[in-house]
Amino acid sequence: MIEEHDERETICDSVNSLVEGCRLPVRMHGTEDWPLAEIISIKDDGQNGRYYYIHYVDFNKRLDEWVTDEHLDTRKVQFPRRDGATAPGTGAATPKKQIPSRPQSPSIPTPEPVNGSAVLQAALQKKMARKRKANCIENDDSQDGIPQQPLPGPRATGSLVAHHQDDVVTRMKNIELIELGRHRIKPWYFSPYPQEMVNLACIYICEFCLKYRKSRKCLERHLAKCTLRHPPGNEIYRKSSISFFEIDGRKNKQYAQNLCLLAKLFLDHKTLYYDTDPFLFYVMTEFDTRGFHIVGYFSKEKESTEDYNVACILTMPQYQRKGYGKLLIEFSYELSKFEGKTGSPEKPLSDLGLLSYRSYWAHTILDILLTVKPTIENEKPQITINEICELTSIKKEDVISTLQNLNLINYYKGQYIVSLNKDIIDQHNAAMEKRKIRIDPKALHWTPKDWSIRAKW
Ligand SMILES: [Zn+2]
Repeated sequence: MIEEHDERETICDSVNSLVEGCRLPVRMHGTEDWPLAEIISIKDDGQNGRYYYIHYVDFNKRLDEWVTDEHLDTRKVQFPRRDGATAPGTGAATPKKQIPSRPQSPSIPTPEPVNGSAVLQAALQKKMARKRKANCIENDDSQDGIPQQPLPGPRATGSLVAHHQDDVVTRMKNIELIELGRHRIKPWYFSPYPQEMVNLACIYICEFCLKYRKSRKCLERHLAKCTLRHPPGNEIYRKSSISFFEIDGRKNKQYAQNLCLLAKLFLDHKTLYYDTDPFLFYVMTEFDTRGFHIVGYFSKEKESTEDYNVACILTMPQYQRKGYGKLLIEFSYELSKFEGKTGSPEKPLSDLGLLSYRSYWAHTILDILLTVKPTIENEKPQITINEICELTSIKKEDVISTLQNLNLINYYKGQYIVSLNKDIIDQHNAAMEKRKIRIDPKALHWTPKDWSIRAKW
């Protein structure tokens, strides 16, 4: 795809020579820092000049953003390697009109492939096909007529990104803002909402059934009809204002898919599971007079060959840093205890997820170590790793890595011993003091199902 050189190429102005894939220092929004960043996409709206979609190389993608010329330090640009026929910088990379969510340029030299981008694309196609006549019409209540194949025709091909471009698309945030109940939330990552939902100033989501609408008016029309005041499925836990609902991804497919779409806005590392049939979803809610509001959720495979007890886990941003993440984790282990198994979350965990798990494991294991009593009086108490696993349902590897991270294991006179000093104990007690809300196993009313004995879910 070599294009004729146009007049723009002859202008040797440094900003105009920038193409997608260039790396350069960029001033991060709201700071005076200029970390190295990569240009993911460039758009030119013809009036206000060019905008650059920036990924800060050593930072989480949730900080990615659109910036203008004055944020760029063009004295130190690393151009992408030229790669065969598609030479960046020939003008092909920066057509005059671009739509932010659909960058035109395939000229990025080969960024790391986005995991499961084919899955995302298939999900996008299916979703779009289903929603193709959706405006404000409540046409998505039925599962009928979902085409199994991507729709042929201009709509499907025109709005989808072909070839390498899906990498670029899924690397960029595509939703500006969501309104969910009382909350307005800025998404962190790409999520394959249908094309007509993208490029709006805000999308409006029913906080109970998670259906999405283009405008507040459309949502109000929906709310007038929507009778749900809690997630579908069974309420299997209630203690004061906290409840958990168990939702079967096969029986409540539409809710499960909408939950995945919503969650993907805040989860970067996992493939979106469009096929929700093999999963159960545990949604945690907080109750007030208006209903049961979604706080967070985790999904779990009905049958896991690798003892995973959590697939995806998310605390909604408006509830983060309040201890709800640990409550979700605690609940997932409580289910494993009821099943009489140990379990572990599916890897990789997100950065925030890993922090929550590390801290949960440390709390739980230290709690056990501090309460274990010696079997013989005046002797040191003894406990095996396996006993810790049985008591907590935490998988052996996670118990060992936690003890190692806490630097508690010592080798002494031919055996491994765990020694707890006063600092660790004080820190632990202070941390536990902060965990006001806890899961109460007595409030869980649930019998595990053996999914393997069912012919079909
Ligand atoms: Zn609704």
